[in-house]
Amino acid sequence: MDSRVESTGLRAKPVAYIFSEDLVKISSRLPSNRNRSFLVYSLVQAYGLLTKCTGQAPQRFLVVRPRPAGKKELLAYHTHDYLEYAMNQSSDAQHLLGASEFGLEDDCPMFHGINDYITQVAGATLTGAAVIRNDVSDVSICWDGGRHHAKKAQASGYCYVADCVLAILFLKRTVPSAQPLKKPRVMYLDLDLHFSDAVSQAFFRPGSTTAAQVLTLSIHHTAPGFFPISPLASLPDVNDPTFDPFTLSVPLTAGASAKTFLRIWPIIEHVKDIFRPDFIIVQCGLDGLAGDPMATFNWSLGGEGSLGWCIHRIVHEWQGKKMLLGGGGYNTPNAARAWTYLTSVAGGIPLSLDADIPEYSAYLQFKPSFTLDIPAGNMQDQNTEEYLQTIEATYEGITSVLHSRMVSSTL
Ligand SMILES: [Zn+2]
Repeated sequence: MDSRVESTGLRAKPVAYIFSEDLVKISSRLPSNRNRSFLVYSLVQAYGLLTKCTGQAPQRFLVVRPRPAGKKELLAYHTHDYLEYAMNQSSDAQHLLGASEFGLEDDCPMFHGINDYITQVAGATLTGAAVIRNDVSDVSICWDGGRHHAKKAQASGYCYVADCVLAILFLKRTVPSAQPLKKPRVMYLDLDLHFSDAVSQAFFRPGSTTAAQVLTLSIHHTAPGFFPISPLASLPDVNDPTFDPFTLSVPLTAGASAKTFLRIWPIIEHVKDIFRPDFIIVQCGLDGLAGDPMATFNWSLGGEGSLGWCIHRIVHEWQGKKMLLGGGGYNTPNAARAWTYLTSVAGGIPLSLDADIPEYSAYLQFKPSFTLDIPAGNMQDQNTEEYLQTIEATYEGITSVLHSRMVSSTL
């Protein structure tokens, strides 16, 4: 993409932070997360993470201004009919009758500026993908992206645009300048409380017998009636005829804490080591953190097995280029806390979770703690030893199939 890049430092490849005032303004209108984008950006700014460097220390961030996605880019996945409907803000009765067909009702109502929202968010995530693909950065961050429930022809679960799918399709394209020509492998890792149904389904190849360029892995909660309903949200079964070792799920039961994430993390790393991705997209949804109104998991921001710990490992220890996206997260001050902290972790300058939040115009929103930390609550972790052993045993079989596919692959 033709992105305007604003260099703010000395270091060869700082982390690309995708930002423009237009993006934050339109993203803050998202009905499910009003003003969240504003608060996230304002806190990142309050800590001075993106400001120009004046000393000898290397600059950690590069602010990259996205441009809106064009129709052709959106059509790489979405249908013409969906885009026509969603982006035509007519309020006449005939038009409104079609709302249910495209999912534009209930939790995904039409809203003023939806057309700009779709083009800006898709453009932002594609810009984040372009800067890592074009070697401008090895890591990019786009907290306004990560809309993992939006389907080809339907809005769903607060998501109107399939930016994750568009980014994966973009990154899997062969790089024309690369010698020898190589098909890049893209891993999509989803840490949101909810299953990444639309992304996983988009790349699901039921009963396939060959290696795929795209591997999706979602860690989430699932239970009868818990959104989204999908057979792919369950623990995969290698004996199922539709089994695809490149479409993976790790479902966790209620109360999942850092202890449980620490326990299952070797599985995630093992899958990554077998697949050896060139690009890793991480959907960093925050609705599994303690204090979120979803009140289902009990994940924390700092310490071993926490969200911050996982992101540190991915960004600083995994091979390949990474893009961090946003997602769910309905406690707005906590979303600002978490994504500000993850920004600092990605930049290699982790903020202190215990220190006071800087006093600035939105400071009072961070009461009563006035710190960055999101500690675990009192909820009991219902992921029993027996269940965790079942996950581990299941993944022994899955990774064995995955390995044999990769060994026989010519990718
Ligand atoms: Zn979610």
